[in-house]
Amino acid sequence: MRLTLPKPVEAALSRLENAGFSAYAVGGCVRDHVLGFTPHDYDICTSATPERMQEVFKGERTIETGLKHGTLTVLLFGMPLEITTFRVDGAYSDGRHPDSVRFTARVEDDLSRRDFTINAMAYSPKAGLVDPFGGQEDCRRGVIRCVGNPVERFGEDALRILRALRFSARLGFPVEEATARAIREGRAQLCHVSRERIAAELSGLLQGRDASGVLRQFPEVIEAVLPELQPLTAGEQWETTLRTVDAAPKDLYLRWAAFLRLCGTDAENSGRLALSMLRGLKMSTKIMDTVTELVQWQAADLRPEAMQEMLMRVGPDRLGQLILLRQAMRTAGQKESPDAIARDTEALKEKLKALLAENACYTLRQLTVNGKDMAALGLRGPAIGETLHTLLLQVARGQLPNDREALLDAAKRTP
Ligand code: ATP
Ligand code: MG
Repeated sequence: MRLTLPKPVEAALSRLENAGFSAYAVGGCVRDHVLGFTPHDYDICTSATPERMQEVFKGERTIETGLKHGTLTVLLFGMPLEITTFRVDGAYSDGRHPDSVRFTARVEDDLSRRDFTINAMAYSPKAGLVDPFGGQEDCRRGVIRCVGNPVERFGEDALRILRALRFSARLGFPVEEATARAIREGRAQLCHVSRERIAAELSGLLQGRDASGVLRQFPEVIEAVLPELQPLTAGEQWETTLRTVDAAPKDLYLRWAAFLRLCGTDAENSGRLALSMLRGLKMSTKIMDTVTELVQWQAADLRPEAMQEMLMRVGPDRLGQLILLRQAMRTAGQKESPDAIARDTEALKEKLKALLAENACYTLRQLTVNGKDMAALGLRGPAIGETLHTLLLQVARGQLPNDREALLDAAKRTP
């Protein structure tokens, strides 16, 4: 098997080899090549220790990423390459990290500590594909399978449970049976994984092409990391949730919103519960705010004639997302024809575009009157803001034109 590696990767491999070491592209990049995808980055492994690597790449820009663990990042022709010494892990006593790592001279040993067969392949132009665990065959058949005994591998590092689900969702590969059983049996170990890592893996899972299939197959894992979702996964809304996730674009915010929209008793309550779960996962403020708002506004009036008011309430970005969430919800509802849903969605997108293009008024800034005008009418304190808001709402609803005279007139009549 021959793979076409980028020039900087080939250069790094041959420089290490010319210095007497063995060196390979390894892990995700080899998997992606074998599957016919373009890798997003390249990891290299080598028999050289970090000190020897530094000699080999003397004169190049290097970043000492994790020398202790054997990793040096080298910038070759502008491409950052993570180069790591072959290593095997010592015992795992915390269910997440090895107590120690030991360097080794054999690539096979390094591959044996990796999580899944599809991730445990190495390649170099000189040696070809090194695949001691049948990774290529599992890529061909499309399965996620642990290297070695799955119960032990998940016992060492429980993060692998979520990685298995993420890869399964992303690639659309089912999890092999013994591995799946070990995932279910080992799920209590997920308490050893940091909330941030759980959040990152769940986000990856949700954006996968088969997110719904994986969620349907492993609800107990979801419950283990988000116990608040137990009523949802056990109830009749779960299938609707999975269909909504399926129908939503593969976008971080929309997939999370689709996933959490029915977690509570109603939209408001679901929004609050979603916020507290996302906060527990230490998500960014942007994710927390966006997802919570989408969940809370999920049932909002989205007819074209209500769009300007919605624009005022949530702003253009959120409204654009809300249109897509609603499309996914209607698709999941399975009561309307796909054509009708597509047509309505298109009309809403067009309406939103038109409102923005014609500079339709949806913020106080765009109103043709301001605080000074209200003060000149004799208003004081909070009454100024309140009156402006009332005027804005009426303009956004089409009940008043955004016309200075008309608004001043209306303000005078406002009690
Ligand atoms: P991605 O495309 O998501 O980056 P990847 O396979 O490159 O996929 P990384 O997290 O970048 O995933 O890890 C690189 C490689 O390191 C993996 O392919 C795997 O061989 C190994 N690996 C990563 N995390 C673990 C782990 N928790 N346990 C065992 N091996 C791991
Ligand atoms: Mg990677």
